[in-house]
Amino acid sequence: MQKYDLIILGGGPAGVAAGIYAARKKINALLLTKSVGGQSIVSAKIENVIGLNSLSGEELSNIFENQLKSYPNLELETGISVESIKKIEDVFEIKDSSGNSYQANYVLNAMGSGYRKLGVPGEKEFGGEGVFYCSTCDAPLMKNKIAAVIGGGNSGFNAVIDLLPYASEIYLLEAAGQLRGDPILQDKIKNERVRVILNAKVLEISGSGLVNGLKYLDLAANEEKFLNLSGIFVEIGYEPNTELVNGMVNLNEKRQIIVDHKTMRTSIDGMWAAGDITDGLYNQINTAIGDGIKAILNIYDTIKSRSEKDKILEPIN
Ligand SMILES: Cc1cc2nc3c(=O)[nH]c(=O)nc-3n(C[C@H](O)[C@H](O)[C@H](O)COP(=O)(O)OP(=O)(O)OC[C@H]3O[C@@H](n4cnc5c(N)ncnc54)[C@H](O)[C@@H]3O)c2cc1C
Repeated sequence: MQKYDLIILGGGPAGVAAGIYAARKKINALLLTKSVGGQSIVSAKIENVIGLNSLSGEELSNIFENQLKSYPNLELETGISVESIKKIEDVFEIKDSSGNSYQANYVLNAMGSGYRKLGVPGEKEFGGEGVFYCSTCDAPLMKNKIAAVIGGGNSGFNAVIDLLPYASEIYLLEAAGQLRGDPILQDKIKNERVRVILNAKVLEISGSGLVNGLKYLDLAANEEKFLNLSGIFVEIGYEPNTELVNGMVNLNEKRQIIVDHKTMRTSIDGMWAAGDITDGLYNQINTAIGDGIKAILNIYDTIKSRSEKDKILEPIN
């Protein structure tokens, strides 16, 4: 098994920036990721990446991937789902879902965040078969069908807006007693085909092959109710992808990796983290890029200073 100085996990903005900087510093590095681009790949329009005019998430991903590939000394593997990260003595061992193992002295964790799940029966079973997390991508599947959006914040409102041209009827379910999104978006979802249901706690998603219904608890009436529908769009926020390092590095109460923001070091020697997976206050493409760069510059300094030390400690024959 080949051992690298550094393995970068994740090909979002943080991982891409790290990959480019690692290649430029000639660090012996491997970047492992499911895909290049990150969360905003589904966006129709991104307008705030410094130095770039308005472009789609897909266009940005292509730019990222081409720039990474212009550095042949960086090993890039896409389509990889990392399943475990372990530190055995001083070496990190990464395993993927196909059973491949990779070793490195250092790891930069830039695995970002993903959609928060409801955690109810049926959600996993019907994933992609009527349970969706990206309305921009999947709203057209609801043509002439009844759909529900779970979550009455801005993401929920945007999902309703995405569904309006397609769905015959849209339920918007919110667990609290009032909607949370911006009034300007609330105005946009006022439509006779949209029915808002407050105090609704989702209990179960049912179906047979495909979703056919949703059971919820009406918290105000303390009564279980059922909706016949074909699609459910879960819009209840994001959570960091930290399951693989839970118990290994220090996390905060939001399960984000706590880092020193000057260096992006985590609580475990040899592991850095960058971007949305960290306890940074702001989650943006530009800030994730900055984090990835800071991490690589600090990793480079660490590699340099450790190899200098090794030289000093080398026995003189
Ligand atoms: C719909 C949407 C639109 C957005 N629009 C904007 C915008 O216009 N402007 C802006 O500044 N910000 C925007 N953001 C926020 C921005 O996308 C994030 O802040 C940024 O992508 C974070 O980058 P990251 O590299 O830290 O993580 P991510 O973008 O989350 O990337 C994580 C990477 O890790 C990989 N990964 C995760 N788990 C694994 C695993 N187990 N194995 C292998 N690989 C894995 C993923 O494939 C991905 O490549 C948007 C976010 C969303 C969801």
